Amino acid sequence: MTGARRAAVLTDLPGPRSKALLADQAAQESSARTYPRQTPIAVAGGDGSYLEDLDGNRFLDFLSGAGVLALGHNHPGLLAAAHRQLDIATHLLDFPSEAKQLFSSRLLNLLPEPMRNRTKIHFCGPTGADAVDAAVKLCKTYTGRSDVIAFSGGFHGSTQSTIALTGLRSSKEHLGNLMPGVSFFPYSSCFRCPLSLTPDSCQINCIQYLDNMLADPNGGVRRPAAVVLEMVQGEGGVVPARLEFVQRLRELTRRLDVPLIVDEVQSGCGRTGTWYAFEQYGIEPDVVVSSKAIGGGHPASVLLYDSKLDGWKPGAHTGTFRGNQLAFAAGAELMRVVVEEGLLEHVRAVGSHLREGLLRMQLRHPFLGDVRGLGLMLGVELVPWAGLSAAELAGRVRKAALHRGLLFELAGRDDCVARFLPPLNLSIAEADEALELLAAAIADVVAELGAAVPQQLPTSSLLLTGTGYPA
Ligand code: PMP
Repeated sequence: MTGARRAAVLTDLPGPRSKALLADQAAQESSARTYPRQTPIAVAGGDGSYLEDLDGNRFLDFLSGAGVLALGHNHPGLLAAAHRQLDIATHLLDFPSEAKQLFSSRLLNLLPEPMRNRTKIHFCGPTGADAVDAAVKLCKTYTGRSDVIAFSGGFHGSTQSTIALTGLRSSKEHLGNLMPGVSFFPYSSCFRCPLSLTPDSCQINCIQYLDNMLADPNGGVRRPAAVVLEMVQGEGGVVPARLEFVQRLRELTRRLDVPLIVDEVQSGCGRTGTWYAFEQYGIEPDVVVSSKAIGGGHPASVLLYDSKLDGWKPGAHTGTFRGNQLAFAAGAELMRVVVEEGLLEHVRAVGSHLREGLLRMQLRHPFLGDVRGLGLMLGVELVPWAGLSAAELAGRVRKAALHRGLLFELAGRDDCVARFLPPLNLSIAEADEALELLAAAIADVVAELGAAVPQQLPTSSLLLTGTGYPA
Protein backbone atom coordinates (compact mmCIF):
# COMPACT_ATOMS: atom_id res chain seq x y z
CA MET A 1 0.00 0.00 0.00
CA THR A 2 1.35 3.42 -0.89
CA GLY A 3 0.47 7.06 -0.38
CA ALA A 4 0.18 9.47 2.52
CA ARG A 5 -0.34 7.75 5.83
CA ARG A 6 -3.69 9.26 6.62
CA ALA A 7 -7.19 7.96 6.22
CA ALA A 8 -8.97 9.06 3.06
CA VAL A 9 -12.39 7.97 1.81
CA LEU A 10 -12.70 8.84 -1.86
CA THR A 11 -15.83 6.97 -2.95
CA ASP A 12 -19.28 6.20 -1.65
CA LEU A 13 -19.24 3.12 0.55
CA PRO A 14 -19.15 0.48 -0.68
CA GLY A 15 -17.19 1.64 -3.71
CA PRO A 16 -17.84 -0.15 -7.00
CA ARG A 17 -15.16 -2.86 -6.69
CA SER A 18 -16.07 -3.58 -3.08
CA LYS A 19 -19.72 -3.71 -4.02
CA ALA A 20 -19.08 -6.45 -6.58
CA LEU A 21 -17.17 -8.64 -4.13
CA LEU A 22 -19.69 -8.05 -1.36
CA ALA A 23 -22.42 -9.23 -3.73
CA ASP A 24 -20.42 -12.38 -4.59
CA GLN A 25 -19.85 -12.99 -0.91
CA ALA A 26 -23.52 -12.57 -0.07
CA ALA A 27 -24.39 -15.09 -2.80
CA GLN A 28 -21.76 -17.64 -1.73
CA GLU A 29 -21.32 -17.38 2.02
CA SER A 30 -23.56 -18.10 4.95
CA SER A 31 -26.00 -15.60 6.34
CA ALA A 32 -24.00 -15.72 9.58
CA ARG A 33 -21.30 -13.51 8.06
CA THR A 34 -20.77 -10.55 10.33
CA TYR A 35 -18.26 -7.76 9.81
CA PRO A 36 -18.95 -6.86 6.18
CA ARG A 37 -22.59 -6.30 6.99
CA GLN A 38 -21.73 -3.24 9.07
CA THR A 39 -18.48 -2.35 7.38
CA PRO A 40 -19.27 -2.82 3.71
CA ILE A 41 -15.83 -2.98 2.17
CA ALA A 42 -13.73 -5.59 0.36
CA VAL A 43 -10.13 -5.43 1.48
CA ALA A 44 -7.12 -4.86 -0.75
CA GLY A 45 -4.52 -4.94 2.03
CA GLY A 46 -3.22 -3.33 5.13
CA ASP A 47 -0.19 -1.39 6.28
CA GLY A 48 0.48 -0.62 9.94
CA SER A 49 -2.58 1.07 11.43
CA TYR A 50 -4.31 1.48 8.06
CA LEU A 51 -6.49 -0.77 5.96
CA GLU A 52 -7.20 -0.11 2.29
CA ASP A 53 -10.25 -1.28 0.38
CA LEU A 54 -10.39 -2.31 -3.26
CA ASP A 55 -11.59 1.13 -4.27
CA GLY A 56 -8.54 2.90 -2.86
CA ASN A 57 -10.23 4.12 0.32
CA ARG A 58 -7.92 4.12 3.31
CA PHE A 59 -9.18 3.61 6.85
CA LEU A 60 -7.53 4.03 10.20
CA ASP A 61 -8.14 0.56 11.53
CA PHE A 62 -9.30 0.51 15.17
CA LEU A 63 -10.61 -3.03 14.81
CA SER A 64 -7.23 -4.68 14.19
CA GLY A 65 -8.76 -7.98 13.14
CA ALA A 66 -10.77 -8.05 16.40
CA GLY A 67 -7.56 -7.59 18.36
CA VAL A 68 -5.46 -10.18 16.50
CA LEU A 69 -3.14 -7.68 14.82
CA ALA A 70 -1.31 -6.35 17.87
CA LEU A 71 1.28 -4.56 15.75
CA GLY A 72 -1.11 -3.60 12.97
CA HIS A 73 -1.05 -4.93 9.43
CA ASN A 74 2.08 -6.43 7.94
CA HIS A 75 4.56 -5.56 10.65
CA PRO A 76 7.95 -6.15 8.98
CA GLY A 77 9.47 -8.06 11.92
CA LEU A 78 6.49 -10.39 12.28
CA LEU A 79 6.35 -10.93 8.54
CA ALA A 80 10.06 -11.76 8.38
CA ALA A 81 9.73 -14.27 11.23
CA ALA A 82 6.81 -15.99 9.50
CA HIS A 83 8.59 -15.96 6.13
CA ARG A 84 11.68 -17.61 7.64
CA GLN A 85 9.54 -20.24 9.33
CA LEU A 86 7.61 -20.96 6.12
CA ASP A 87 10.74 -22.58 4.67
CA ILE A 88 11.38 -24.68 7.78
CA ALA A 89 8.01 -26.22 8.72
CA THR A 90 4.47 -24.93 8.99
CA HIS A 91 2.52 -27.57 10.90
CA LEU A 92 3.88 -30.10 13.38
CA LEU A 93 0.95 -31.28 15.53
CA ASP A 94 2.26 -31.13 19.10
CA PHE A 95 5.84 -32.22 18.38
CA PRO A 96 8.49 -29.99 19.90
CA SER A 97 10.35 -27.67 17.56
CA GLU A 98 12.76 -24.78 17.95
CA ALA A 99 10.05 -22.29 16.96
CA LYS A 100 7.70 -23.67 19.59
CA GLN A 101 10.41 -23.76 22.23
CA LEU A 102 11.27 -20.11 21.69
CA PHE A 103 7.59 -19.19 21.83
CA SER A 104 6.98 -21.14 25.04
CA SER A 105 10.01 -19.82 26.88
CA ARG A 106 9.28 -16.21 25.95
CA LEU A 107 5.64 -16.62 26.97
CA LEU A 108 6.53 -18.14 30.35
CA ASN A 109 9.07 -15.37 30.92
CA LEU A 110 6.37 -12.76 30.46
CA LEU A 111 4.38 -14.14 33.39
CA PRO A 112 4.80 -12.56 36.83
CA GLU A 113 7.84 -14.12 38.48
CA PRO A 114 6.00 -16.24 41.11
CA MET A 115 3.94 -17.94 38.38
CA ARG A 116 6.75 -18.83 36.00
CA ASN A 117 8.04 -22.03 37.52
CA ARG A 118 4.70 -23.52 38.33
CA THR A 119 2.96 -22.76 35.04
CA LYS A 120 2.33 -25.34 32.34
CA ILE A 121 1.30 -24.61 28.78
CA HIS A 122 -1.25 -26.47 26.73
CA PHE A 123 -1.62 -25.64 23.03
CA CYS A 124 -5.23 -25.80 21.88
CA GLY A 125 -7.01 -25.78 18.55
CA PRO A 126 -6.29 -22.26 17.42
CA THR A 127 -9.37 -20.39 18.60
CA GLY A 128 -10.21 -18.63 21.82
CA ALA A 129 -13.33 -20.75 22.19
CA ASP A 130 -11.41 -24.02 21.97
CA ALA A 131 -9.05 -22.84 24.69
CA VAL A 132 -11.90 -21.72 26.98
CA ASP A 133 -13.52 -25.11 26.46
CA ALA A 134 -10.22 -26.82 27.29
CA ALA A 135 -9.81 -24.68 30.42
CA VAL A 136 -13.20 -25.81 31.70
CA LYS A 137 -12.35 -29.46 30.93
CA LEU A 138 -9.07 -29.11 32.81
CA CYS A 139 -10.81 -27.72 35.90
CA LYS A 140 -13.59 -30.31 35.78
CA THR A 141 -11.00 -33.07 35.66
CA TYR A 142 -8.99 -31.57 38.51
CA THR A 143 -11.89 -30.88 40.86
CA GLY A 144 -14.18 -33.75 39.93
CA ARG A 145 -16.96 -31.16 39.92
CA SER A 146 -19.07 -30.13 36.94
CA ASP A 147 -20.69 -26.72 37.43
CA VAL A 148 -19.19 -23.44 36.25
CA ILE A 149 -19.80 -19.85 37.34
CA ALA A 150 -19.69 -17.11 34.72
CA PHE A 151 -20.60 -13.41 34.77
CA SER A 152 -23.30 -11.28 33.22
CA GLY A 153 -21.99 -9.46 30.17
CA GLY A 154 -19.18 -11.97 29.61
CA PHE A 155 -18.24 -13.43 26.24
CA HIS A 156 -16.23 -16.59 25.77
CA GLY A 157 -16.88 -17.87 22.23
CA SER A 158 -19.35 -19.30 19.76
CA THR A 159 -19.16 -23.04 20.40
CA GLN A 160 -21.91 -24.66 22.41
CA SER A 161 -19.93 -24.82 25.65
CA THR A 162 -18.64 -21.26 25.35
CA ILE A 163 -22.05 -19.88 24.41
CA ALA A 164 -23.24 -21.48 27.62
CA LEU A 165 -20.69 -19.32 29.47
CA THR A 166 -21.59 -16.17 27.52
CA GLY A 167 -24.04 -13.55 28.72
CA LEU A 168 -25.45 -12.64 25.31
CA ARG A 169 -28.86 -14.28 25.39
CA SER A 170 -29.54 -14.02 21.65
CA SER A 171 -26.57 -16.30 20.92
CA LYS A 172 -28.34 -19.09 22.82
CA GLU A 173 -31.59 -18.90 20.92
CA HIS A 174 -32.71 -21.89 18.83
CA LEU A 175 -29.92 -24.10 20.19
CA GLY A 176 -31.74 -26.10 22.79
CA ASN A 177 -29.38 -27.46 25.40
CA LEU A 178 -25.91 -26.06 25.77
CA MET A 179 -23.27 -27.15 28.28
CA PRO A 180 -25.32 -27.63 31.45
CA GLY A 181 -24.43 -26.41 34.91
CA VAL A 182 -23.54 -22.77 34.24
CA SER A 183 -24.73 -20.13 36.71
CA PHE A 184 -24.43 -16.42 36.00
CA PHE A 185 -23.54 -13.89 38.66
CA PRO A 186 -23.37 -10.09 38.41
CA TYR A 187 -20.18 -8.55 37.04
CA SER A 188 -18.89 -5.29 38.52
CA SER A 189 -20.35 -3.25 35.72
CA CYS A 190 -20.86 0.13 37.40
CA PHE A 191 -22.33 2.14 34.53
CA ARG A 192 -25.24 -0.31 34.50
CA CYS A 193 -25.04 -1.76 37.99
CA PRO A 194 -26.70 -5.20 37.90
CA LEU A 195 -27.85 -4.60 41.48
CA SER A 196 -29.17 -1.09 40.75
CA LEU A 197 -26.77 0.49 43.22
CA THR A 198 -25.03 3.84 43.00
CA PRO A 199 -21.49 4.79 44.08
CA ASP A 200 -22.86 5.85 47.51
CA SER A 201 -24.65 2.58 48.15
CA CYS A 202 -22.16 0.23 46.43
CA GLN A 203 -19.92 -1.85 48.60
CA ILE A 204 -19.00 -4.13 45.72
CA ASN A 205 -22.17 -5.99 46.63
CA CYS A 206 -21.89 -7.96 43.40
CA ILE A 207 -19.02 -10.01 44.77
CA GLN A 208 -20.62 -10.16 48.22
CA TYR A 209 -23.70 -11.65 46.56
CA LEU A 210 -21.63 -14.44 44.97
CA ASP A 211 -19.89 -15.07 48.27
CA ASN A 212 -23.23 -15.24 50.11
CA MET A 213 -24.77 -17.57 47.54
CA LEU A 214 -21.89 -20.01 47.67
CA ALA A 215 -21.90 -19.95 51.46
CA ASP A 216 -25.68 -20.41 51.76
CA PRO A 217 -26.61 -24.11 52.21
CA ASN A 218 -30.02 -23.19 50.78
CA GLY A 219 -28.64 -20.98 48.02
CA GLY A 220 -29.07 -23.65 45.35
CA VAL A 221 -25.59 -23.19 43.91
CA ARG A 222 -23.13 -26.08 44.16
CA ARG A 223 -19.41 -25.53 44.57
CA PRO A 224 -18.28 -25.16 40.98
CA ALA A 225 -15.44 -26.71 39.01
CA ALA A 226 -14.36 -23.22 37.97
CA VAL A 227 -15.17 -19.53 37.82
CA VAL A 228 -14.56 -17.90 34.43
CA LEU A 229 -13.81 -14.18 34.31
CA GLU A 230 -12.76 -11.52 31.82
CA MET A 231 -10.64 -8.80 33.45
CA VAL A 232 -12.03 -6.36 30.90
CA GLN A 233 -15.18 -7.54 29.20
CA GLY A 234 -14.61 -6.96 25.50
CA GLU A 235 -17.68 -8.02 23.55
CA GLY A 236 -19.69 -7.08 26.64
CA GLY A 237 -18.82 -3.43 25.99
CA VAL A 238 -15.26 -2.78 27.23
CA VAL A 239 -16.03 -3.05 30.92
CA PRO A 240 -13.01 -3.31 33.20
CA ALA A 241 -13.69 -5.24 36.39
CA ARG A 242 -13.28 -3.29 39.58
CA LEU A 243 -10.14 -4.00 41.57
CA GLU A 244 -11.90 -5.03 44.74
CA PHE A 245 -14.31 -7.27 42.83
CA VAL A 246 -11.42 -9.21 41.34
CA GLN A 247 -9.38 -9.35 44.51
CA ARG A 248 -12.29 -10.59 46.58
CA LEU A 249 -13.18 -13.11 43.88
CA ARG A 250 -9.62 -14.43 44.02
CA GLU A 251 -9.78 -14.66 47.81
CA LEU A 252 -13.16 -16.40 47.66
CA THR A 253 -12.15 -18.92 45.00
CA ARG A 254 -8.95 -19.73 46.91
CA ARG A 255 -10.91 -20.19 50.12
CA LEU A 256 -13.28 -22.65 48.42
CA ASP A 257 -10.57 -24.33 46.33
CA VAL A 258 -12.30 -23.34 43.09
CA PRO A 259 -9.94 -22.74 40.13
CA LEU A 260 -10.17 -19.23 38.68
CA ILE A 261 -9.99 -19.15 34.88
CA VAL A 262 -9.11 -15.74 33.51
CA ASP A 263 -10.08 -15.31 29.85
CA GLU A 264 -7.47 -12.97 28.38
CA VAL A 265 -8.31 -13.82 24.77
CA GLN A 266 -9.05 -10.16 24.05
CA SER A 267 -7.42 -8.32 26.95
CA GLY A 268 -4.11 -10.19 26.72
CA CYS A 269 -0.80 -9.71 24.91
CA GLY A 270 -0.20 -6.12 25.96
CA ARG A 271 -3.61 -4.77 24.97
CA THR A 272 -4.28 -3.17 28.40
CA GLY A 273 -0.74 -1.97 29.07
CA THR A 274 0.54 -5.05 30.89
CA TRP A 275 1.19 -8.35 29.12
CA TYR A 276 -1.91 -9.76 30.79
CA ALA A 277 -4.57 -7.55 32.35
CA PHE A 278 -4.72 -9.66 35.54
CA GLU A 279 -1.29 -8.29 36.49
CA GLN A 280 -2.90 -4.90 37.16
CA TYR A 281 -5.23 -6.52 39.67
CA GLY A 282 -2.49 -8.03 41.81
CA ILE A 283 -3.86 -11.56 41.50
CA GLU A 284 -2.55 -14.86 40.19
CA PRO A 285 -5.18 -16.87 38.30
CA ASP A 286 -5.10 -20.67 38.18
CA VAL A 287 -5.69 -20.75 34.45
CA VAL A 288 -5.08 -18.05 31.83
CA VAL A 289 -6.63 -18.39 28.38
CA SER A 290 -4.74 -16.60 25.62
CA SER A 291 -5.42 -16.39 21.89
CA LYS A 292 -6.09 -13.68 19.25
CA ALA A 293 -2.81 -11.67 19.21
CA ILE A 294 -0.67 -14.43 20.75
CA GLY A 295 0.25 -15.93 17.35
CA GLY A 296 1.58 -12.65 15.92
CA GLY A 297 -1.32 -12.52 13.45
CA HIS A 298 -1.59 -16.29 12.89
CA PRO A 299 -4.07 -18.63 14.56
CA ALA A 300 -2.99 -19.92 17.97
CA SER A 301 -4.42 -20.40 21.42
CA VAL A 302 -2.93 -21.54 24.67
CA LEU A 303 -3.77 -22.32 28.24
CA LEU A 304 -1.32 -21.30 30.91
CA TYR A 305 -2.15 -23.11 34.12
CA ASP A 306 -0.90 -23.97 37.55
CA SER A 307 0.80 -27.36 37.28
CA LYS A 308 -1.16 -28.56 40.32
CA LEU A 309 -4.18 -28.77 37.98
CA ASP A 310 -2.38 -31.08 35.59
CA GLY A 311 -4.55 -34.14 36.06
CA TRP A 312 -5.02 -34.68 32.35
CA LYS A 313 -4.33 -38.02 30.71
CA PRO A 314 -2.39 -38.05 27.42
CA GLY A 315 -4.66 -36.86 24.62
CA ALA A 316 -7.20 -35.30 27.00
CA HIS A 317 -7.47 -32.22 24.79
CA THR A 318 -6.32 -32.80 21.25
CA GLY A 319 -6.87 -30.84 18.05
CA THR A 320 -5.12 -31.17 14.70
CA PHE A 321 -4.14 -27.53 14.39
CA ARG A 322 -2.25 -27.20 17.65
CA GLY A 323 1.12 -26.98 15.96
CA ASN A 324 1.00 -23.80 13.90
CA GLN A 325 4.70 -23.03 13.49
CA LEU A 326 4.07 -19.72 11.72
CA ALA A 327 2.14 -18.57 14.77
CA PHE A 328 4.95 -19.70 17.07
CA ALA A 329 7.58 -17.85 15.03
CA ALA A 330 5.54 -14.66 14.65
CA GLY A 331 4.24 -14.84 18.23
CA ALA A 332 7.78 -15.18 19.62
CA GLU A 333 8.79 -12.13 17.56
CA LEU A 334 5.77 -10.21 18.85
CA MET A 335 6.89 -10.91 22.43
CA ARG A 336 10.44 -9.78 21.62
CA VAL A 337 9.17 -6.53 20.09
CA VAL A 338 6.80 -5.85 22.99
CA VAL A 339 9.61 -6.25 25.52
CA GLU A 340 12.55 -4.74 23.64
CA GLU A 341 10.67 -1.79 22.20
CA GLY A 342 8.96 -0.91 25.49
CA LEU A 343 5.52 -1.34 23.98
CA LEU A 344 3.72 -1.85 27.28
CA GLU A 345 4.71 1.63 28.46
CA HIS A 346 3.77 2.90 25.01
CA VAL A 347 0.30 1.34 25.26
CA ARG A 348 -0.24 3.01 28.63
CA ALA A 349 0.91 6.41 27.30
CA VAL A 350 -1.00 6.37 24.00
CA GLY A 351 -3.97 4.77 25.76
CA SER A 352 -4.24 7.63 28.24
CA HIS A 353 -3.77 10.18 25.47
CA LEU A 354 -6.65 8.66 23.54
CA ARG A 355 -8.78 8.31 26.61
CA GLU A 356 -8.23 11.96 27.59
CA GLY A 357 -9.26 12.98 24.08
CA LEU A 358 -12.42 10.88 24.39
CA LEU A 359 -13.18 12.38 27.80
CA ARG A 360 -12.80 15.88 26.35
CA MET A 361 -15.18 14.89 23.55
CA GLN A 362 -17.62 13.58 26.14
CA LEU A 363 -17.80 17.00 27.76
CA ARG A 364 -19.16 18.41 24.50
CA HIS A 365 -21.58 15.59 23.69
CA PRO A 366 -23.91 14.36 26.42
CA PHE A 367 -24.86 11.27 24.43
CA LEU A 368 -21.34 9.94 25.01
CA GLY A 369 -22.45 8.45 28.31
CA ASP A 370 -19.32 6.72 29.52
CA VAL A 371 -15.67 6.51 28.49
CA ARG A 372 -13.81 3.52 29.89
CA GLY A 373 -11.16 0.89 29.38
CA LEU A 374 -7.55 0.05 30.12
CA GLY A 375 -4.56 0.79 27.90
CA LEU A 376 -5.60 0.48 24.28
CA MET A 377 -8.79 -1.42 25.00
CA LEU A 378 -11.16 1.52 25.11
CA GLY A 379 -14.87 2.03 24.73
CA VAL A 380 -17.43 4.82 24.69
CA GLU A 381 -20.97 3.88 25.68
CA LEU A 382 -23.67 5.94 24.05
CA VAL A 383 -26.91 6.87 25.76
CA PRO A 384 -30.29 7.82 24.22
CA TRP A 385 -30.47 11.36 22.85
CA ALA A 386 -32.58 13.50 20.52
CA GLY A 387 -35.28 10.84 20.38
CA LEU A 388 -32.89 8.09 19.28
CA SER A 389 -32.01 4.98 21.25
CA ALA A 390 -28.39 4.46 22.27
CA ALA A 391 -28.11 1.64 19.73
CA GLU A 392 -29.44 3.82 16.89
CA LEU A 393 -27.05 6.61 17.78
CA ALA A 394 -24.10 4.23 18.06
CA GLY A 395 -24.95 2.77 14.65
CA ARG A 396 -25.05 6.24 13.12
CA VAL A 397 -21.77 7.30 14.72
CA ARG A 398 -20.03 4.11 13.58
CA LYS A 399 -21.29 4.60 10.03
CA ALA A 400 -20.36 8.27 9.93
CA ALA A 401 -16.90 7.40 11.29
CA LEU A 402 -16.41 4.81 8.55
CA HIS A 403 -17.30 7.42 5.93
CA ARG A 404 -14.74 9.72 7.52
CA GLY A 405 -12.14 6.93 7.46
CA LEU A 406 -12.17 5.48 10.99
CA LEU A 407 -13.01 1.81 11.29
CA PHE A 408 -14.24 0.35 14.57
CA GLU A 409 -16.86 -2.07 15.81
CA LEU A 410 -19.69 -1.81 18.27
CA ALA A 411 -19.98 -3.96 21.37
CA GLY A 412 -21.99 -4.21 24.57
CA ARG A 413 -25.69 -4.43 25.30
CA ASP A 414 -27.63 -3.65 22.12
CA ASP A 415 -24.35 -2.71 20.43
CA CYS A 416 -24.27 0.75 21.96
CA VAL A 417 -20.56 0.88 22.82
CA ALA A 418 -18.00 2.16 20.31
CA ARG A 419 -15.08 -0.19 20.89
CA PHE A 420 -11.53 0.80 20.02
CA LEU A 421 -8.85 -1.86 19.60
CA PRO A 422 -6.09 -0.03 17.72
CA PRO A 423 -2.67 -1.56 17.15
CA LEU A 424 -0.42 -1.41 20.22
CA ASN A 425 2.21 0.53 18.29
CA LEU A 426 -0.26 3.27 17.36
CA SER A 427 1.52 6.63 17.23
CA ILE A 428 0.31 9.73 19.04
CA ALA A 429 -0.27 11.32 15.62
CA GLU A 430 -2.50 8.41 14.61
CA ALA A 431 -4.37 8.62 17.92
CA ASP A 432 -4.96 12.33 17.24
CA GLU A 433 -6.12 11.53 13.73
CA ALA A 434 -8.63 9.03 15.15
CA LEU A 435 -9.93 11.64 17.61
CA GLU A 436 -10.34 14.16 14.77
CA LEU A 437 -12.18 11.64 12.61
CA LEU A 438 -14.46 10.62 15.45
CA ALA A 439 -15.21 14.25 16.34
CA ALA A 440 -16.04 14.96 12.68
CA ALA A 441 -18.27 11.86 12.52
CA ILE A 442 -20.14 12.92 15.66
CA ALA A 443 -20.59 16.40 14.18
CA ASP A 444 -21.99 14.75 11.04
CA VAL A 445 -24.53 12.81 13.10
CA VAL A 446 -25.55 15.89 15.09
CA ALA A 447 -26.00 17.84 11.84
CA GLU A 448 -27.96 14.96 10.28
CA LEU A 449 -30.34 15.04 13.22
CA GLY A 450 -30.56 18.80 13.07
CA ALA A 451 -30.20 18.81 16.84
CA ALA A 452 -28.41 21.36 18.95
CA VAL A 453 -26.03 19.80 21.46
CA PRO A 454 -27.22 20.76 24.94
CA GLN A 455 -24.45 22.32 26.99
CA GLN A 456 -24.46 20.07 29.98
CA LEU A 457 -21.81 17.95 31.54
CA PRO A 458 -22.47 14.25 31.92
CA THR A 459 -21.43 12.91 35.25
CA SER A 460 -21.39 9.22 34.45
CA SER A 461 -17.70 8.90 33.68
CA LEU A 462 -16.77 10.35 37.03
CA LEU A 463 -17.82 6.98 38.35
CA LEU A 464 -15.41 5.01 36.24
CA THR A 465 -12.50 7.38 36.20
CA GLY A 466 -12.63 7.54 39.97
CA THR A 467 -11.00 5.11 42.35
CA GLY A 468 -11.60 1.39 42.31
CA TYR A 469 -9.93 0.54 38.99
CA PRO A 470 -6.35 -0.27 38.08
CA ALA A 471 -4.41 2.99 37.72
N1 PMP B 1 -13.02 -14.99 24.85
C1 PMP B 1 -13.04 -13.67 24.65
C2 PMP B 1 -12.85 -12.76 25.82
C3 PMP B 1 -13.21 -13.15 23.36
O1 PMP B 1 -13.24 -11.82 23.18
C4 PMP B 1 -13.37 -14.05 22.29
C5 PMP B 1 -13.56 -13.54 20.87
N2 PMP B 1 -14.00 -12.28 20.70
C6 PMP B 1 -13.36 -15.41 22.55
C7 PMP B 1 -13.17 -15.86 23.84
C8 PMP B 1 -13.55 -16.41 21.44
O2 PMP B 1 -12.45 -16.42 20.61
P1 PMP B 1 -12.58 -17.09 19.16
O3 PMP B 1 -13.48 -16.20 18.37
O4 PMP B 1 -11.18 -17.11 18.63
O5 PMP B 1 -13.14 -18.43 19.35
